[in-house]
Amino acid sequence: MKDVWSKADLHIHSSHSDGLARIPQIMEHVQEHTDLSVIAITDHNTMEGALFAKSLEDMYEFEVIVGEEISSRSGHIIGLFLEKPVPAGLSAAETIHRINDQQGIAIIPHPFSKRGVFGPFGRNGFLDAVSELAFQALEVYNSIPYLVWANRVAAKVFAGGQGIAATGGSDAHVLKGIGTGYTLFRGTSAEDLRSSVKNLETRAETGSGGLGMAVRYAVRIPQIRRQHAWNWERCASE
Ligand SMILES: [Zn+2]
Ligand SMILES: [Zn+2]
Repeated sequence: MKDVWSKADLHIHSSHSDGLARIPQIMEHVQEHTDLSVIAITDHNTMEGALFAKSLEDMYEFEVIVGEEISSRSGHIIGLFLEKPVPAGLSAAETIHRINDQQGIAIIPHPFSKRGVFGPFGRNGFLDAVSELAFQALEVYNSIPYLVWANRVAAKVFAGGQGIAATGGSDAHVLKGIGTGYTLFRGTSAEDLRSSVKNLETRAETGSGGLGMAVRYAVRIPQIRRQHAWNWERCASE
């Protein structure tokens, strides 16, 4: 087995949902300003941006995973390695089922936040919920500062050993956010990452950012909110 470890940011938004950066900008940024080997574009309820990024992949030295951050009825769920989109508005179990059906990887992002699947369960109901849902990975680090507390709880539960991989992603909505949270995996390619998740050998890490990120998000929040509103309207009309 290869003993090379690489970084992947598995949670990135583009202008195809509520991110501020367009796909070509994201691709250039990752190439020029990060040491990521793999990225996943995970827009809210659409694969358009991810497919566009995938089509540009050959021009760059990193690999792209086609993903989607799906709004299930109980919260956000990320699907990676998708072939076809999973619609919003299904139950968490059905959403995960549809991801697994196409050999995708289901990740629960920001698990205890307001739009997190385990938000309503809290710390105590978490273990029961975990055993009911057949997801593959839990996003342990998410660099948006207000999630620091939730991350700590997630890490504690995860440490209990549920047989779930830990992944990290930035949940970047701006270029500078990309890579601030990432997954360390064995190998270099997207397929290596998939095996690493299956073998539970990924590690979630967070880069520097902290206060700087908080300030950037504070400045950008009105704009992100507007785009959120636009996106949710679009989801509602589907
Ligand atoms: Zn989310
Ligand atoms: Zn997100």
